[in-house]
This record gives sequence, structure tokens and C-alpha cells, in this order.
Amino acid sequence: MINLNIFVFNSFAVNSFVLYDDTGECAIIDPGCHTEEEKNDLRSFITQNHLKPVALINTHFHVDHILGNQFVCSTYNLKPTGHVAGKFFWETAREFGSVFNISLDEIAKPEIFVADGDVIRFGKAELEVRYTPGHADGSICLVCHDQKFVIAGDVLFYGSIGRTDLPTGNFDTLMDSIHQKLFVLENDYTVYPGHGPKTSIGFERLNNPFIQ
Ligand SMILES: [Zn+2]
Ligand SMILES: [Zn+2]
Repeated sequence: MINLNIFVFNSFAVNSFVLYDDTGECAIIDPGCHTEEEKNDLRSFITQNHLKPVALINTHFHVDHILGNQFVCSTYNLKPTGHVAGKFFWETAREFGSVFNISLDEIAKPEIFVADGDVIRFGKAELEVRYTPGHADGSICLVCHDQKFVIAGDVLFYGSIGRTDLPTGNFDTLMDSIHQKLFVLENDYTVYPGHGPKTSIGFERLNNPFIQ
């Protein structure tokens, strides 16, 4: 049984996830913690629940989703996991940050690469990687079939979709990703987006006004 804890971090209100099971192993997904207080919140949660972080996964490499990478890597001796197609973003993260008035000292770049169909394991849990470009190259969704949920990054939101006006964004590609990689899941899969409230595949299939 995977437990899922969500933090909302930084000025972009990014959903940062800690997933763990009864083995105590945990995966940290999109750590957006930026202030000392946010870093403390994450560290305290992990300490209080006696968790052992074994994976740091980035759904994509927009600056809001990687702000805490350096902190997590140095605190827990981890290397980020991600998709190699997002290279452009970690190479330009500092410039991106400065556009939004966010200063990044060091950026922990991914060193463990996954591809569509790969399975990431921690404890007894398995997350299937689905490659879902369109919002940003290198975007992945993580699907847990055992408990029917998806960590969707900025691909699909409650009643909305990821923006496609940033570099490498493409509306048609995003639609293909949503239809071919997410809407092939059953309606009762819960969707945890990178921002905002959770939703479900069924709800979005019926109600999402952006889906064509
Ligand atoms: Zn994004
Ligand atoms: Zn985002």
C-alpha cells in the first residue's frame, strides 16, 4: 500500500510528492521546496515517518519542479531520475529561473534516465513511466496500476491541460500524449497533477473543456 503525501511548494504552488510504503522506502517526486522553511517541512516529514528516500523523480524540468533537487540530492545522497529529452531545460534552468526572479545556485541534473514503459521501484511499489511530451519535452507521467493513480506533472490538470506556449510546447503533441498515454487508463484512475487539486481520468474524459 503506497501512502501519498503532497506538499505545495514555492511561488508556483507546485505539488511535491512523497510516496512511501510499509517498508519505509520512499520516492520524492518534483521537490519544489525552495525556502528554508519548505526544505524543513520536507525533511521533518521524512524524519518523523522514519522514511528512507531511495528515488528522486522529476516529471519534467521546468524550474518550479526542480527547485528542491539540490537539497534532496545532498541531504539524501540521491541522483535525480528523469527523461533525457528534457536536457534543454536543465541546461537553461538558471536563465529560466531568472526570468521568474528565482535564483538557483546549483542545479542537480538527472543522472538516472528512464524511457516510456520503464518501471521505477521503491519498497514494494511499482510506477510505470509513460512519456508524455507536449507541455515540455522530457515530460513523464508515473502510473501506479496497483492503486490506480497517475502522477501527471503538468500534462493534465483538473479541468485544464498543461500550457503549450513555452519552449518545446506543442498543443497537438500534448493532445496525443493525453489520448494515447492517459485516456487509455480506466476512468477510476485518480490523477495527481503538478498543480492544483486531484481529479480522475473519467472526470477529465467527460468534462475537460480543452480536450479535442
Ligand atoms: Zn511545467
Ligand atoms: Zn509546473
